[in-house]
Amino acid sequence: MTQSQARVAIVTGGARGIGAATAQRLAADGLAVAVVDLEESAAKGTADAIAATGGTALAVGADVSDASQVEAAVARVAEELGAPTILVNNAGITRDNLIFKMTESDWDAVMGVHLKGSFLMTKAVQKHMVDARFGRIVNLSSTSALGNRGQANYSTAKAGLQGFTKTLAIELGKFGVTANCIAPGFIASDMTKNTAERLNIPWDEYLAARAKEIPVQRAGAPEDIANMVSFFVGEAAGFVSGQVIYVAGGPKA
Ligand code: NAP
Repeated sequence: MTQSQARVAIVTGGARGIGAATAQRLAADGLAVAVVDLEESAAKGTADAIAATGGTALAVGADVSDASQVEAAVARVAEELGAPTILVNNAGITRDNLIFKMTESDWDAVMGVHLKGSFLMTKAVQKHMVDARFGRIVNLSSTSALGNRGQANYSTAKAGLQGFTKTLAIELGKFGVTANCIAPGFIASDMTKNTAERLNIPWDEYLAARAKEIPVQRAGAPEDIANMVSFFVGEAAGFVSGQVIYVAGGPKA
């Protein structure tokens, strides 16, 4: 058994999209994976798919923006899979609107999941990392961090995650913990399908139009992000910390 096979990873928002692909990829890399999502039944779909291919996974229901649910979820992972030393803060939502129409609850909901959720999860998991003198934190930012019409809340949260990541890298580095950020461009997932629906554009048309704007001329797949996560959480990436990498088929959005 290699060292990495013994490690326990938590992937939030792992029921679908980028989180599901990441959980599956990390399990294929030999990690035991806790799939955390709002509903345990939804997380179980990913955990079952991992188990079906011979991997080890646990489905956990928790709202990452709720401190007591986060504490309970991390305690359960430690109890049932072992101390988590890899954390992928991937859970996310959008509440898009132009600033003059954006409500306070649109703002609070997005900050709650992306920023508070990543803070609470990191705070709960870092103690296991410090004890183990090893840890890998990967936070999901976005090209929207550079600014995106209709996303004042989301772009603020995604830019905030970049600062959060760099500070974690500085504070936790001496304990063998790295923290890095992945900023995806356009990835085909339920999140972007919902955007197409909201804009009243057929998915195929929306996909083709977005692909044309991307230098590699295609939309990203959840697996494109999972591949990058796999690198950051690996044993070999221990000297890479506090970085933001845009995985967007080009230099930016
Ligand atoms: P997705 O398909 O919408 O999946 C997000 C998952 O997060 C869902 O399973 C969702 O559960 C879960 N979730 C939402 N709120 C949660 C909470 N409070 N606690 C626990 N889980 C929660 O999204 P995706 O496209 O895979 O995106 C994953 C991440 O990448 C997000 O952080 C997103 O902002 C980021 N990203 C995506 C893109 C893109 O183009 N798709 C681009 C840049 C960045 P429910 O289904 O129950 O809501």
